[in-house]
Amino acid sequence: MRCQLPPHSTGKHHGLLAETEPYAALWLRWDEGGTAEAVTLPDCPVPPLVTDADACCLYSGHPERHTWDVAAYSEETSCTS
Ligand SMILES: [Zn+2]
Ligand SMILES: [Zn+2]
Repeated sequence: MRCQLPPHSTGKHHGLLAETEPYAALWLRWDEGGTAEAVTLPDCPVPPLVTDADACCLYSGHPERHTWDVAAYSEETSCTS
């Protein structure tokens, strides 16, 4: 499981497990200590600044930038759905 957030030095890592509902998904959340838990989180509600861009594929309240803010991401980062 790979963290899908932009590079971050604090907070827990999040990897998408499955889209479980239209506006929520199951995420695996873990920290450096090896503690992991599966949590259902609502989708990020922030719309892209560019109207033809894809919606952010992270969860509501995530840290760092949105996935539509492509400058923060490498080319290999994409939604799994
Ligand atoms: Zn992470
Ligand atoms: Zn977002």
